[in-house]
Amino acid sequence: MSRGRERVAYLRPNLFLLQPNPVLYCDEVMRVLIVEDEKKMAASLKRGLQEEGYVVDLAYDGDEGWHRATERDYDVIVLDIALPARDGIELCRDLRRQGIKTPILMLTARDTVDVKVQALDSGADDYLTKPFAFAELLARLRALQRRSQYDLTLQLQAADLILDPISRRVTRGGRDIALTPKEFALLECLLRNKNRVLSRTILAESAWGESFDALTNVIDVYINYLRNKIDRDFEPKLIQTVRGVGYVLRDETS
Ligand code: CA
Repeated sequence: MSRGRERVAYLRPNLFLLQPNPVLYCDEVMRVLIVEDEKKMAASLKRGLQEEGYVVDLAYDGDEGWHRATERDYDVIVLDIALPARDGIELCRDLRRQGIKTPILMLTARDTVDVKVQALDSGADDYLTKPFAFAELLARLRALQRRSQYDLTLQLQAADLILDPISRRVTRGGRDIALTPKEFALLECLLRNKNRVLSRTILAESAWGESFDALTNVIDVYINYLRNKIDRDFEPKLIQTVRGVGYVLRDETS
């Protein structure tokens, strides 16, 4: 850390004088919040991440996690699902509602589709099932950081429809459009594959994480909801049905 401290002292003398712990303001330091009630697990994660050069704060329950995450900016939050006071799903949802866009990696104790879908729907960016290899946690944290740096400059757009993957905000013609998590996932998938025809199976996977045959009819229903929100009152119509195949979001302007 000494290199970072010197660098900050050199570049930002005012901060160095004003802040008791100036290293926190060095752009090169990655700051992680771990919210985990199992103290041994939390301590070993903290030690491991510190060895990798991360600055780590710990919170042992959901309420403490809320206070820490809303008090300061983190580069990433590692959030256990099963927590006292406020569970990880609830906390994640509350943080997103508060407009906090920090990438969140959720830790789940159970490897079920339900839990993963719940985690992602609550606004988490990724999940990891316990027990996991520490190397995998590191790789996922790096991926989240890369993605958030990339996504910040990358809104998805078709005609006058804009979807921001970080703030999860959708507008068309400058008007805010409220989408449910499933509708949002479908629209994001369509936009990321603009002008490419997608099967119902692919769309079901993107919104539900699994390609149940039974879900493919549900896709038609959700596409309809989506059309009512993003196409009905606007021109041009973006979502088009490709008979016998699936759907495509067409953008003639690109
Ligand atoms: Ca726990």
